[in-house]
Amino acid sequence: MERDRHKPRLLELQSAAGNGRCADCGQPDPEWASYKLGIFICLNCSGIHRNLPEISKVKSLQLDFWESNLIEFMKKHGNLCAKAKYEAKVPPYYYIPQSHDCLVLKEQWIRAKYEREEFVATQVCQDPCSAGSHEGFLWKRGRESKCFQKRRFLLSAREGVMKYYTKEAKGPKATISIENLNAMFQTEKIQHAHGLQITYNADGQTRNLFVYHESGKLIPRITRNYVKEGYMQKTGPKQKEAFKLRWFCLDSQERNLTYFKNPLDAFAQGQVFIGTMDEGYEVQAGLPQGVRMKKRKPAITVVTPTREFVFICENDKEQREWIDALNGVITQPLSG
Ligand code: ZN
Repeated sequence: MERDRHKPRLLELQSAAGNGRCADCGQPDPEWASYKLGIFICLNCSGIHRNLPEISKVKSLQLDFWESNLIEFMKKHGNLCAKAKYEAKVPPYYYIPQSHDCLVLKEQWIRAKYEREEFVATQVCQDPCSAGSHEGFLWKRGRESKCFQKRRFLLSAREGVMKYYTKEAKGPKATISIENLNAMFQTEKIQHAHGLQITYNADGQTRNLFVYHESGKLIPRITRNYVKEGYMQKTGPKQKEAFKLRWFCLDSQERNLTYFKNPLDAFAQGQVFIGTMDEGYEVQAGLPQGVRMKKRKPAITVVTPTREFVFICENDKEQREWIDALNGVITQPLSG
């Protein structure tokens, strides 16, 4: 029979280099193929391709009849060839779904790849930035609920923004300029290997987003790390107010010592700009003159041209570390 005569050739192709795994998610031993794109794909991905008849047409390697011209076509193309064409310009931060990922992620990927041809080299030759937007899902910690929820994130190089969406609202929940955005790994704080803290300025206020990706691939460029983070107690401007426990983050690039009520708060309570030694900034161990405490505490005083800030560290080791970290910023010249 015709069908049986071609079958061995088809299965031989399936075992050729690159065809042994699904072209879209990497699942081993794909049993389906798109004879319009010339790729071997798994059952799950074939279901997605089936819904995109404009760009793809699928057949089962085992169950369907294969005309010899289609087998020729498969032979001429194949997964490596398709990869070279459709994945030529996948940005390093773009998350490529794997076989265990959900169908939504795979569909995003397949549509971006073949429908919008986002990663085809010839299309982006005019301007690498016009490669457009990259989207995917991140788990974001809710401001009120504190639970991590799956949210769609979009990074648009052309618009220079990152947006994220909630299920309810039609438009983006937030649009953040990539220029004003800092991203850093925060595995401990978020308690996830791919935990990420995204910090940006919203109407003059420092806002935090805590997110993670299941396998850490869709992430904005990592821009920096906090030099030091931890609890300290702070008093008010009169230095007579009761000391309150706050979570402090020292950003050496922005030269900010930002403080929060809790480490995972969305909004900062305040921040102290840390200038240079030439501008009169200084950090000292101990309390400023005139401030007294009943018991000796591991305190530090940050002197700025306008005010002295008094902090009490958790212990002597923390005190030394904060002094070193702050001195590191004070002695570093202003950039730009
Ligand atoms: Zn697949």
